[in-house]
Amino acid sequence: MAPEIRYTKLFINNEWVDSISGKTFDTYNPHDGSVIAKVSEGDKADIDLAVAAAKKAFARNSEWRLMDARQRGKILNRFADLVQEEASYLAELESYNNGMLLQLSSRLTSNAVDGIRYTASLADKIEGSTIPADGDVFCYTLKQPVGVCGLILPWNVPILMFLNKVVTALAAGCTTVVKPAEQTPLTALYLASLLQKAGVPAGVVNIVNGYGETAGVALTHHPDVAKISFTGSLEVGKLIQQAAGANNLKRITLELGGKSPLVIMNDADLATAIRFAALGVFTHQGQICIAASRLFVQSGIYDQFVKGAVEVAKTLKIGNPFDSQSQHGPQIDEGMMKKVLGYIEKGKQEGAKLLVGGKQAGSKGYYIEPTVFADVQDDMTIAKEEIFGPVQSILKFETLDEVIDRANATNYGLAAGIFTTNVNNAIQFANNVEAGVVWVNNYMGGGGQAPFGGFKESGIGREGGKHGVDEYLEVKTVTISVPKKVSN
Ligand code: NAP
Ligand code: MG
Repeated sequence: MAPEIRYTKLFINNEWVDSISGKTFDTYNPHDGSVIAKVSEGDKADIDLAVAAAKKAFARNSEWRLMDARQRGKILNRFADLVQEEASYLAELESYNNGMLLQLSSRLTSNAVDGIRYTASLADKIEGSTIPADGDVFCYTLKQPVGVCGLILPWNVPILMFLNKVVTALAAGCTTVVKPAEQTPLTALYLASLLQKAGVPAGVVNIVNGYGETAGVALTHHPDVAKISFTGSLEVGKLIQQAAGANNLKRITLELGGKSPLVIMNDADLATAIRFAALGVFTHQGQICIAASRLFVQSGIYDQFVKGAVEVAKTLKIGNPFDSQSQHGPQIDEGMMKKVLGYIEKGKQEGAKLLVGGKQAGSKGYYIEPTVFADVQDDMTIAKEEIFGPVQSILKFETLDEVIDRANATNYGLAAGIFTTNVNNAIQFANNVEAGVVWVNNYMGGGGQAPFGGFKESGIGREGGKHGVDEYLEVKTVTISVPKKVSN
């Protein structure tokens, strides 16, 4: 039972419109490669219209700019109510367009409701400070919205990414133009309809479906866009930083994936570590930026660990994301499936030991078997590049000191994890690993209240928590002459 598709046009100034060119593109179901719908394809001309609408909505004295911060929070809470009411439909639409297991999209959508309420609660807690500056002055700071924000989304977790960026920007008082990933426009469009229903004024949220090379480039080069928040590949992240610098020095937040190390010490609880290591790399078929794609296992437990890891990978049930028995769904599209299979071939050629999986599963859709490589060496391609697929690469190490250096020997720095029962190991690892997020005796734990982002080439800036809101704000210092001494 395919979910009904209700929105396929562009959303500009609270209206559903065709693209100016009249062009459309197909969007697909990764389960079987079938076409779901034709979606309006926006390009520069549509981005111009959307940015103009967002600029008008951000103008001084506009409804949005004059709105009390508390009221922004109320609208976002109303939006959370609507997302909660429509959570099943949204989760189905996400799975249909993205291939995510329905269990996962349902859990993420329900978590997202809590996330929206948390961020909504910050709208009226954006506070400056008073500063004891030099001289006869009264000095204070204001935190003000940065302006029109271009939000460029990836395809891997579309609902979560939409909400992380849009809700945070709105809580801060910004206006937005969103470009969803070409593969997954449908949930973004539906969420826009709910934002409108919740009372977001016209022009505050605009959605332009389209391709990165056209719509995306137009947004990153637009002189009226003050900030870009982007999640996706490192390659495109670099282009966005260049575009931001070449034009009006846009503020940027970049979240660019990783090659995250997960370290298992001899003293770890083995069964728990094996389970989390599998979760860390096979969740959503490895299509997550924080995937634990370099698994370092200490020599004393190496053989036993590898045996356990293979058992887990073997038993994952591959199947339709809509089937509640399925534990492993398809990759997003044929291109990504081929790219991941290419990495698996590289792993074999370069001498890693393939223990399970390694092939396309079935002949329909874009399924890949959960794959485990052991005896992986640091200089192999599968240990260096982000695969974004269900490939567990296991490496052996001897000491904590050695593994910290090896964990840090990467251009990325998004996430890291360690399993150990020794508190010194845990703290020394957390202190020294070069990553924006560190998990000890869990992987992917916590929630949206905490900041999230990367060191090194994994990104710039943070999303989540209060740090996330700050990324959409400018700080203004106001200094007023006032004699300290009262003279009359
Ligand atoms: P991508 O090309 O970086 O796409 C991410 C978003 O940026 C999409 O909306 C894309 O539009 C847009 N875009 C592409 N080129 C652009 C440009 N020059 N200017 C502005 N926007 C542009 O990622 P991908 O091709 O979908 O996936 C490739 C690899 O990226 C994956 O293998 C994975 O390693 C990584 N990735 C990482 C994350 C993450 O969470 N960090 C998420 C997704 C992918 P289109 O719709 O035209 O692509
Ligand atoms: Mg792309």
